[in-house]
Amino acid sequence: MVGAGFAGVGCVRRLERELAAAEADVTLVTPFAYQLYLPLLPQVASGVLTPQSIAVSLRRSRKYRTRIIPGGAIGVDLASKVCVVRTITDELVNEPYDYLVLAPGSVTRTFDIPGLTDHAFGMKSLAEAAYLRDHVITQLDLADASHDPAERASRLQFVVVGGGYAGTETAACLQLLTHNAVKRYPRLDPALIKWHLIDIAPKLMPELGDKLGRSAQEVLRRRGIEVSLGVSIAKAGPQEVTFTDGRAVPTRTLIWTAGVAASPLIATLGAETVRGRLAVEAELNLPGNDGVFALGDAAAVPDRAKGEAGAVCPPTAQHAMRQGKVVADNVIATLRGRPLRPYVHKDLGLVVDLGGTDAVSKPLGIELRGLPAQAVARGYHWSALRTGVAKARVLTNWTLNAVAGDDFVRTGFQARRAAKLKDFEYTDSYLTTEQVRAHLKGSGSDVSGSEGSGFEGSGPDQE
Ligand SMILES: Cc1cc2nc3c(=O)[nH]c(=O)nc-3n(C[C@H](O)[C@H](O)[C@H](O)COP(=O)(O)OP(=O)(O)OC[C@H]3O[C@@H](n4cnc5c(N)ncnc54)[C@H](O)[C@@H]3O)c2cc1C
Repeated sequence: MVGAGFAGVGCVRRLERELAAAEADVTLVTPFAYQLYLPLLPQVASGVLTPQSIAVSLRRSRKYRTRIIPGGAIGVDLASKVCVVRTITDELVNEPYDYLVLAPGSVTRTFDIPGLTDHAFGMKSLAEAAYLRDHVITQLDLADASHDPAERASRLQFVVVGGGYAGTETAACLQLLTHNAVKRYPRLDPALIKWHLIDIAPKLMPELGDKLGRSAQEVLRRRGIEVSLGVSIAKAGPQEVTFTDGRAVPTRTLIWTAGVAASPLIATLGAETVRGRLAVEAELNLPGNDGVFALGDAAAVPDRAKGEAGAVCPPTAQHAMRQGKVVADNVIATLRGRPLRPYVHKDLGLVVDLGGTDAVSKPLGIELRGLPAQAVARGYHWSALRTGVAKARVLTNWTLNAVAGDDFVRTGFQARRAAKLKDFEYTDSYLTTEQVRAHLKGSGSDVSGSEGSGFEGSGPDQE
């Protein structure tokens, strides 16, 4: 099993439950020792939740018996059935398999925009969310201390790119953070704080439909967030961002959430892809490769419930979690010589938490706004957390934040650490198809990678 996200953990937990220990050994390759509950990441960035509360332990499970390899899969050779793993200490390990389940998720999709990967922050990992929170509070601290009006202006403007749920929630939750925090900075003029949310598409979150989408936009407008549609970034610099409509915005904070692309691991397989996601059948198996399955954000899974030819499931946690269970059943069916079952799931809708009591939700097609939408959003996320302890942590954090608010503490944990898009997703760790083959043949091709190209914190301070 590669990847311990919604898809991977859903699959592993079912395999542990359904398979006898004598029947199979389960191995999980994952850089982190937790399953990250990504939909609550904006609440970590805004300080409503602590980072630990959405990092759900992989080892807390009644039937836990999986062997965990701390690292990332950097290549797969389907012919020899070997997965090449780079451990978090930068060692290469060849892991043979009988059955392979690929659930490495996705990375932030970027474009060839000058300065983007050097200057933009991402919002896809726990480290990024924690860093962003510190960074935003740092801007308030430095603006407060500065006598230079130009510096103050650039530190107090924030740009979020991406009008999907990730970008909209991030902009809304962080705007609320700065709105509440500025009360503790009597020398700062709140009118100088400005949030921009931009997207090249003509609508925010088109999945919400016209009416609910307009409601979400109205909430953002009321909060003073300037929404610009049909607009992207032309170039990004350390202290200024230029929009495609020609506006130059002085800012030190560019947050990029404009979509995702399948994990680079998929390209190493040399198999058919659909827009970068591995093309699998409705049973989530890779055609022509018995015992290989893929799911979640990394796979293009036919959306049988839609009934349209060529439709694939969108990259959501809702699908990934459910696909995990179907893959586990199909691995077990293959092992026991039974027929596979297809994945069919009708979308249950969308919940969007805009911070405070603002939210919009569309469960089962019913449009909700404000408190009822907030209750559905939080209730849904709470129930989807995998362990009772994680549920208790999140509930405690929500209650504490509602009662006592935030202290807006800048921790400094990540100060001076490179923390832009290019620093978090390890996209240069992967091998090419040829490098995988050469490595497995032991032909001496150098696949060790550059220093620090490994997963998690590999590098000088990891022994
Ligand atoms: C800010 C934000 C908000 C979101 N909100 C929602 C929402 O409200 N509702 C919703 O349905 N979806 C939401 N999503 C999308 C949802 O989180 C993803 O669709 C879902 O996480 C996909 O599950 P997955 O298991 O495929 O990937 P992930 O959950 O991303 O898991 C992939 C796992 O694989 C690991 N990994 C990566 N590369 C490797 C490798 N080479 N080897 C081994 N392991 C690897 C990663 O560390 C990770 O643990 C949101 C996403 C973001 C970023």
